[in-house]
Amino acid sequence: MLRYHQVPSCAVGYAQARFGTLCFNQNSTVFKRPNSPVGPKSPNSPKDGCSPSISVFQFPNFPRRTEFSVKSQLFCMLFCIMLGMNNAGMAFTTILWDVDGTLLDFEAPEKAAMQSLFLEYGFGECTDEMVKRYSAINRGYWERLEKKELSKTQILVGRFRDFFQEVGVDSSCAEEFNDKYQERLGDTIVFKDDSYEVVKSLRGMVLQYVVSNATILAQTKKLRVSGLGELMDGVFLSEQVGFEKPDVRFFDEVLKHIQETDKSRILLVGDSLTSDILGGTNAGIPTCWYNPKGLSAKGAVRIDYEIRDLHEIYDIVKPSMK
Ligand SMILES: [Mg+2]
Repeated sequence: MLRYHQVPSCAVGYAQARFGTLCFNQNSTVFKRPNSPVGPKSPNSPKDGCSPSISVFQFPNFPRRTEFSVKSQLFCMLFCIMLGMNNAGMAFTTILWDVDGTLLDFEAPEKAAMQSLFLEYGFGECTDEMVKRYSAINRGYWERLEKKELSKTQILVGRFRDFFQEVGVDSSCAEEFNDKYQERLGDTIVFKDDSYEVVKSLRGMVLQYVVSNATILAQTKKLRVSGLGELMDGVFLSEQVGFEKPDVRFFDEVLKHIQETDKSRILLVGDSLTSDILGGTNAGIPTCWYNPKGLSAKGAVRIDYEIRDLHEIYDIVKPSMK
């Protein structure tokens, strides 16, 4: 078995250039997901690379209830009855999933994308220490986005400009570099725990949606390549919604478009205290902090549930479920 951390970064870069996409499971073991959509897109694939099976809501053009046909409404009623029968005893009917750092590892694709692009731009080797430094700069920028101090465009380009200046490479290409970086993030998929199987096993018991601040370009590719997108009942990306987590208006828009109207039956699962947990709490939605490293919670944000492993979600969603 080949493990991700045993693979030299240059080999990862070469493999990505040669084969396009690498997938790893929770133990960082290289694998090929059964019926994986990895490979050439079908001729019918949309130009933006988003699989037709991913229900990315197009704001503000998401079809309203009155626009559904009678046939569609009858189908929905039947589906609801079946879901109701299947989720008897469930504490929650709906899960809102964060993606980066929750369902998918973010550090591995970040490192692989940075290192392969540094070679492509002739910047030399991007060492692990440099990647760590970039990660710290990146985190700081995202925190400023959550506080509404900067726009999404400012953070996407600004983080690379700062980093390039710090490591002494040409910062004038920061915007173009970011465009390629967004595309490249989806070339390395590393599932957190058994997230694919966890989400798949919950289908039919609860409705599941993605709620993410990532860019449309990066996230639609990651959801398509990982297969997670086709397991979801909908995808909410902040660029489409018009607001970023933890802004309560982001969750207001989500709540307008999902089936469940009782907030107490919706569970938000995410790894970020400042965007997921704070946002969910402000919106009146119960929250579950995914905390695999056992970090101590900072600040006064309320946390309803805390898990170290995604498999623990079963006990929260359906306490009687083993
Ligand atoms: Mg996250």
